[in-house]
Amino acid sequence: MASYVTTFDDADKKVHLAEISTEPPKDVTRESAGLQFSQFGAELFELQDLLWGARTHSVLIVLQGMDGAGKDGAIKHVAGYLNPRGVSVTSFGIPTREELEHDFLWRVHQRTPRKGEWTLFNRSHYEDVLVVRVENLIPEAQWKQRYGHIRDFEELLSEHDTIIFKFFLHISRDEQKERLLEREQDEHAAWKLNAGDWKTRQKWDEYRDAYQDAIRRCATPSAPWHIVPADSKWFRNLAIAATIVEKLRPYKKLWQKRLDELGERARAELAAYRAAGGR
Ligand code: AMP
Ligand code: MG
Repeated sequence: MASYVTTFDDADKKVHLAEISTEPPKDVTRESAGLQFSQFGAELFELQDLLWGARTHSVLIVLQGMDGAGKDGAIKHVAGYLNPRGVSVTSFGIPTREELEHDFLWRVHQRTPRKGEWTLFNRSHYEDVLVVRVENLIPEAQWKQRYGHIRDFEELLSEHDTIIFKFFLHISRDEQKERLLEREQDEHAAWKLNAGDWKTRQKWDEYRDAYQDAIRRCATPSAPWHIVPADSKWFRNLAIAATIVEKLRPYKKLWQKRLDELGERARAELAAYRAAGGR
């Protein structure tokens, strides 16, 4: 299957978001996408179940994007296929005073997944080189150092068997406007209204530049960035599910083998218990 996302895993490659489409490829229809999405969904569940038992790895899924890009929707649809037992979602908002009185990764590290588990981040440590940079919350020299800290942090997680996905939900400026206006029309979505989103929208180009730098400077083989065309919600969901499944499929054998070993061990223990007269 052709890749539905544009992947960056190497800091040498320049990132030009304007050259990457925000729309689905022409040959993917909504109907076929729906069918594929449910197939990938079933496979996600199967993979999660294997990993839950095998406990050899953990999975971290980072979602970033402009306001209205669909971070919440992606979490709802993709995590909707998973067993809630092994999933957690963390949304990162404006840091609390306690969080600000620590290094910027402190609050993030506490939320990373344990072995066997999956964690989805709605926003993440990347805000510390995005909003923090665009809104001048700290001096430039300080946020610039953070790219290296982020790379090291993600490398640490990866060395400890965390499989990392970083998705940038790529929407056009026009699509964002439509979605923000839609929210205003929808009486049930009024709670999501935020004048700040319109203010942030004025800085579209500055955010895009900040994203391009963050993606490029923190693109590594163990923690690549995937740019997801996100103007259509149905394609966004499919692209994310497909990317995760394709990356995890090769682990299936290993996880199954581990489960078989655990099963054998448990059987042997039970047999020994019985042999000793236990019942
Ligand atoms: P929302 O995702 O709509 O609930 O909004 C969360 C808000 O928190 C956004 O405006 C983010 O830019 C902001 N935010 C998240 N992380 C940080 C951070 N590290 N520093 C400053 N603002 C942040
Ligand atoms: Mg918001």
